[in-house]
Amino acid sequence: MLDRFNLVRESFMKKAKPVDKPDGLPSEYFGELVFNRKQMEKYLDAKTLKALLACIDGGHPLDRATADGVARGMKEWALEHGVTHITHWFQPLTEGTAEKHDSLIDYDGKGGVIETFDGKSLAQQEPDASSFPSGGLRATFEARGYTAWDPTSPVFIQDDTLCIPTVFLSYTGEALDYKTPLKRALKAVNDAALPICRLFDPEVKKVYSYLGWEQEYFLVDEGLFAARTDLMITGRTLFGHNSSKEQQLDDHYFGAIPSRVAAFMRDLEIAGHRLGIPIKTRHNEVAPNQFELAPIYGETNLANDQNQILMNIMHTIARKHGFVVLLHEKPFDGVNGSGKHNNWSLGTDTGTKLLAPGKDAMGNLQFVTFFVNVLKAVQRHNGLLKATIASATNAHRLGANEAPPAIVSAFLGRTMTQVLRKLLEVPSDTPIQIAGKKGSRMDLVEIPEIFVDNTDRNRTSPFAFTGNRFEFRAVGSSANCAGAMTTLNAAVAEQLLDFKADVDKELAAGKELQVAVMDTLKPIIASVIDTVCFDGNGYTDEWKAEAARRGLDTETVIPEMFNAFLTPESVAMFTRTGVYTEKELQARNEVKWETYAKKLQIESRVMVRMSINHIIPAAVTYKSTLLKEVALYEEVYGDTEGCATELAILDDITRFTEEVRQRARTVENARLAADDIPDAYSRARAYADIANMLAALRKPLDALEEVVDDKLWPLPKFRELLFIS
Ligand code: ADP
Ligand code: MG
Repeated sequence: MLDRFNLVRESFMKKAKPVDKPDGLPSEYFGELVFNRKQMEKYLDAKTLKALLACIDGGHPLDRATADGVARGMKEWALEHGVTHITHWFQPLTEGTAEKHDSLIDYDGKGGVIETFDGKSLAQQEPDASSFPSGGLRATFEARGYTAWDPTSPVFIQDDTLCIPTVFLSYTGEALDYKTPLKRALKAVNDAALPICRLFDPEVKKVYSYLGWEQEYFLVDEGLFAARTDLMITGRTLFGHNSSKEQQLDDHYFGAIPSRVAAFMRDLEIAGHRLGIPIKTRHNEVAPNQFELAPIYGETNLANDQNQILMNIMHTIARKHGFVVLLHEKPFDGVNGSGKHNNWSLGTDTGTKLLAPGKDAMGNLQFVTFFVNVLKAVQRHNGLLKATIASATNAHRLGANEAPPAIVSAFLGRTMTQVLRKLLEVPSDTPIQIAGKKGSRMDLVEIPEIFVDNTDRNRTSPFAFTGNRFEFRAVGSSANCAGAMTTLNAAVAEQLLDFKADVDKELAAGKELQVAVMDTLKPIIASVIDTVCFDGNGYTDEWKAEAARRGLDTETVIPEMFNAFLTPESVAMFTRTGVYTEKELQARNEVKWETYAKKLQIESRVMVRMSINHIIPAAVTYKSTLLKEVALYEEVYGDTEGCATELAILDDITRFTEEVRQRARTVENARLAADDIPDAYSRARAYADIANMLAALRKPLDALEEVVDDKLWPLPKFRELLFIS
């Protein structure tokens, strides 16, 4: 029998493990496991290097001779690092990454083997990928999707394996992964933003999208984790009474990091740094045993790969320290969930930050141009942006009393709100000054060079401007950031295309650049300032009503949210920017509904079984102890007058146990009925109702935890899961 108390004792005894430190400083081992430019220069001949860089920087296709040359150099580098296998590493729609390892050996024709690796195996692989979700894009009889190297993502080494980041496509060219559409969206935003940047600076050649993610997670002792079937199977506790102490004292946030956790973090940082992931920040988060880490931001495709790599290595390194990492958005009811803020911005190859104030009035005008167009894109596609972060797991954060509310609005802050309002009043040729130089005058529009006061940042906003970037905070901790980043960049690209077309008309009418831009921006500002822009408290019920009046999407049911991908506006935006075809959108929605239903199916099964096999038996055992006690009392005293406590508890147990049994049956019946629904959307819709039934089943289970003898309770409790580290 599971001895919960022994588990707890053992967990407490676990000590911080010494950290395996590589020789030298981080600057010396940073990126040593990545085939980066430094390695390219060392291991590739001049011609191959030139061709590869043209491919990476200029988007030229990779020819076979170059691929062979690159493979030769990579092989040499890899063998020096003890590599024996290669894999095409890709990001299927399952969330998480996939890899199929091939050994480097081949027959040498003399009865032995040699290590081989050529351009063909670098460039393309055909995994038998019939089991990855495709939403029907790849019927099983033509199961061969293929993976193709993405040379813009550097190859890296994990253990004994050379990992080649790839896109994953169907034979007919449809995207079956996260990376392909992301790359299309990054191209779209470059193509749309570049001509606008050139109005301000003809030297600009490329516009980059940047991503800085902040990964939140929980750590749980692995012994306790293994004793919670629900955590192990679904990634979250399906029930559990809250702990007397949770986060009310706010004493965990930024508190001292426990030594065992610190040892894990140091190992993780070293591993990340060796893989070229510039991890910078680590700290405790709001909830007990909740932590966060964040790297220095980088180009979006690269930053997203790094997040995926990191999510993988977190699991392995945590195990070495006797922990399990929980990336689920809501592992514990009652304390904060985990998100993954996506800090996003645009910048040029000439070093201009397009979402930060400029160095002069024209620079500020360029900033305001991009700023306002981003807001417009968010307004046009607010329901879609919400759909990109919606999932069965993030559902527990959406709309709950913590970020993010189930409405996408944008937080501007006082300064930028004032600037926009002022711009609506002044003539279009008014320069946007840098604050502080001329003093405050009514006819001036001013922006501070740097936003010193970011303290009024609003934590309740799902999309907040924070001085030089927007923070898309609604993204879930377990999500692939590419989903959100693809939609955001594509939506901004579409808006920039429209904007440029309108500015061109003004310019053709002979207006100066400043006036042409402002005349185009003013109606856009007027249309966003009182709709998508909202600096108030996003958690209130008044906001829900107000948002509906403002025409924002207020849908709260996850499978319904996904429909936003298929509206005419979304399809038009995605096809115009070349990011998704309509067929791809339909297929991906199938996958989303499927995944939603499957996750809830698993939760339903686990919860019903745990109710019947774990909780009811514990409750009945305690019940029988109490009954024996009462019977004994009666035998001795001839009545039950002294048994008021026992009888009251017996009443509670009988009532709650019966509720558990009945509600479990309701869930079970609903689940069986839902599983019979053939169409993915309707099945997901049925499971959305089952989600509410699970919440109802939870209530008597948690009530029982409060009355049943602690010694008999068969599962680690929240107070143990959350406070042992
Ligand atoms: P917070 O107070 O939100 O924790 P941080 O300063 O820790 O803010 O930054 C969070 C993330 O935002 C980091 O990954 C950081 O590199 C990133 N970031 C900073 N500036 C930008 C920018 N211009 N574009 C994108 N990401 C950025
Ligand atoms: Mg942040």
